Amino acid sequence: MIQISNLTKTYRMGDLSLTALSDVSITIPAGSFIAIMGPSGSGKSTLMNLIGLLDSPTSGNYQLFGQEIGHLSEDELAQLRRNTTGFVFQQFHLLPRTSAQENVALPQIYSTQNINLEKAGCLLELVGLGNRKDHRPNELSGGQQQRVAIARALVNSPKIVLADEPTGNLDSKSEKEVMSLLSELNKQGITVILVTHEEEIAKYAKRIIRMRDGKIISDEKIKERNLPQTSTELVLPIDTKKETSPTISFLNFSVHIQEGVKALVANKIRTFLSMLGILIGVAAVIAMLALGRGAQQSIESQLASLGSNLLTVRTGSYRMGGVSLGTGAIAKLTTEDAEIIKKSIPSVKATAAEITGKGQTTYKDKNWSTQVMGTTENYPIMRASIPVIGRFFDESENRKRMRLAVIGMTLVTELFGDTDPIGEYIKINKVPFQVIGILPEKGNNGWRDQDDIIMIPLQTAMYRLLGKNYVDQINVEIEKLEDMESAEEQIKSIIEKRHRIAPSQTDAFQIRNMQDIQSALSESSKTMSWLLASIAAISLLVGGIGIMNIMLVSVTERTREIGLRKALGAMRKDILIQFLVEAMVVSLLGGIIGILLGIAITLGLSFLANWTTSISVFSIILASLFSALTGIFFGLWPARKAASLDPIVALRYE
Ligand code: ADP
Ligand code: MG
Repeated sequence: MIQISNLTKTYRMGDLSLTALSDVSITIPAGSFIAIMGPSGSGKSTLMNLIGLLDSPTSGNYQLFGQEIGHLSEDELAQLRRNTTGFVFQQFHLLPRTSAQENVALPQIYSTQNINLEKAGCLLELVGLGNRKDHRPNELSGGQQQRVAIARALVNSPKIVLADEPTGNLDSKSEKEVMSLLSELNKQGITVILVTHEEEIAKYAKRIIRMRDGKIISDEKIKERNLPQTSTELVLPIDTKKETSPTISFLNFSVHIQEGVKALVANKIRTFLSMLGILIGVAAVIAMLALGRGAQQSIESQLASLGSNLLTVRTGSYRMGGVSLGTGAIAKLTTEDAEIIKKSIPSVKATAAEITGKGQTTYKDKNWSTQVMGTTENYPIMRASIPVIGRFFDESENRKRMRLAVIGMTLVTELFGDTDPIGEYIKINKVPFQVIGILPEKGNNGWRDQDDIIMIPLQTAMYRLLGKNYVDQINVEIEKLEDMESAEEQIKSIIEKRHRIAPSQTDAFQIRNMQDIQSALSESSKTMSWLLASIAAISLLVGGIGIMNIMLVSVTERTREIGLRKALGAMRKDILIQFLVEAMVVSLLGGIIGILLGIAITLGLSFLANWTTSISVFSIILASLFSALTGIFFGLWPARKAASLDPIVALRYE
């Protein structure tokens, strides 16, 4: 079954080369029970590892079940190993924080791809630990742990069990238990090879091979065996299930996910810390994009409330402390200007002059100081101010200088409270006005409450209330967007001609194009959104690096676990997937919690700080996609590092 000829193993350490095995040849038939003995450093473990396919020889031939192992790839070796060989180590190498039963079932992940806990339970009963199935390694004695390890070695129904000093860490009572177990296994037809330096232990074997300095110095068969017999006969459970081909199936994948999650649950705090970066990053992406979008939307709605295709002509203002300007330098706009603009420029759809002033309003015993605006009947359509309740005044009411008022929402609350204001009389600067409508709510535009306003007919405002014969501003609505610029030029020349202003006097009046303001504002809010998004992206990147960092630590810390898994038959891709899954679970979980946190922050901000926010589905998809990718990207390196570990080096790692 095992045929070894002229096997040599040389370790290279810098310039030094150390021959651990030189020219070893042995033949081991099926059903043997062999003890390998020799002083420390004589090459026993090296030989065992070669037999167990954990290591490859420097030269020589090794045939296992007639197969020359020199021609096999790493994965083929892993496959052969898990189908034929069970290992028992001196240090037990059980997975901590994992129950005995699950430890026993572990090798099944890599062979049959579905965990048969029942079989694991049977084996535990077989080794006398039926009542310890749910105990963890640290809740078991050394002898019990080693028996769990033996059960684990048996779970894939091996033909060979290799035990490297299985009793090295045990007391004499446990020693006997373990040894009688091994000899029982041999009776069932399993080949047992064990390494020991105790004559007592070696006596259990049928053949003793002694080594020194990497060479076999004697090989004797023991004829007579009188052993302390175990009272129970071992009956190994028979595998009824056919082994499936060891490729990655989806079933297998779910097992890997379970393994990954188990490892993460075992390290809750670390898992949480490593997902913290992603969590904060994702939350930041969600919240910042929501804020950015909210800002954009509120700007857009502000812009809509300004009206579209609108030009405003404003009287220039006196400069304080600057070059003094004569009164001639200021164009005092009049209602005639508005009429002439309308009449002489065909592309102008409508004009509405306006004048504003302060007004002290009273209703019954209530007082409120507000802004009074006099304007014409065109204003509400042009500036999105059509009353929500009641009506606006019309052209004839304006001409007749009637005392009518359309009031904003702030006034409704401040003056009227619960009373219906329509038809009521209020006093503005002691002059009585009848309320005929309520303006739509426009909110705060950042520097002023836009609802703290009263609108009255322009003529009434000019001649009855404010005592001015000029207006402050003329709103001009242009029919088509493309005519805006030419209209602006025409208005400019009309005003200059009518008020005798030289074109060089640029601050006599101003014409503002609302379209320009709109595009400038939405441009800046877009820039703002991108800025916020890039800050969030950077925090995601940092989160990813955090995951990579912790995964690397985890790989180093679990080097021996990886070695063990490989010894139990895990292939490179098994380990790769396991660690990749861990990284992905961390980042996805972080992503999900981050999304929830982001939504919570967003809602909190709009609730507490009264900011406009808008969570977009896009940002949620983006964040989850990004966090998954982060997991794969930053998990790949640590996972590859883990997968490429040499089983023997990893197992010896301290
Ligand atoms: P033992 O019989 O005590 O189990 P080993 O087979 O472990 O002995 O080691 C045999 C020799 O090979 C020893 O001299 C040891 O120092 C050396 N050796 C074992 N493993 C390595 C290694 N990975 N690198 C270098 N030298 C090693
Ligand atoms: Mg050894």
